[in-house]
Amino acid sequence: MGKLWIGTNWKMNKTLQEGLDYVKELLAFLDALQPQFHTFVIPPHTSLWPIREATRGTRLFLGAQNMHWAEAGAFTGEISPTMLQEMGIDLVELGHSERRQYYNENDYDLNKKIRAAIRHGIRPLLCVGESLTERQFGVETEVVASQLKISLHGVSSHEAAQLLIAYEPVWAIGEAGKPAEPAQIARMHAHIRDLLCSLFGDSGRRIPILYGGSVNQENFLTYLRIKEVNGLFIGRAAWDLASFRQMLQEIHRYALAEM
Ligand code: PEP
Repeated sequence: MGKLWIGTNWKMNKTLQEGLDYVKELLAFLDALQPQFHTFVIPPHTSLWPIREATRGTRLFLGAQNMHWAEAGAFTGEISPTMLQEMGIDLVELGHSERRQYYNENDYDLNKKIRAAIRHGIRPLLCVGESLTERQFGVETEVVASQLKISLHGVSSHEAAQLLIAYEPVWAIGEAGKPAEPAQIARMHAHIRDLLCSLFGDSGRRIPILYGGSVNQENFLTYLRIKEVNGLFIGRAAWDLASFRQMLQEIHRYALAEM
């Protein structure tokens, strides 16, 4: 078993104090986990600096929920790769379906963001996934291939080592989401792996592919057992630290048994 990536995006949740309390408790037991176990949290922008200070030098990876591609400029409301780099942010989530749906984020802009993140030493965590309609019309593999090909255009095999990919079918995300069947995840992850290998050769084999979308206490281990699932990207079920900790501990036991 290779490295396992387990993390959560808080979306627009948690005040600064709530976030600090959460990471403090999380850090208290992270050291007990094996080094190949990578855990990350992605708080809202307003909490990033203080949470960076609280987590500097620890094993917890810190991510941002979005970023502009330009270094600076007249882009009101945006945050630049230079600003994230200055904070020492480890990764940036790009292309979450909510950003695509509510803020018209598209693959061409994501391509600029991904390349800017790589230039600034920040790992892009690229989210891809089809809508329910696209799946009903049987074009889910084409949709995901197109998202990957456009947003990763121009990334070299060497740079590809920085990438993290999350497959998040839109129909499985959030309160209204329907958890995916393991076979659906297995098929899409294999498809993504093939595509990454065709784009990046051997480097494509090593890019972690995480699964996200209604991961919960009932299904997380089932999902993790799927070949080509290299980690989990968890929303609601990880916002309560007790729930996240329980999943992390069980995943750790599972990973140890598999090693
Ligand atoms: C998400 O929105 O990326 C996500 C995985 O959310 P949830 O786990 O709550 O479905």
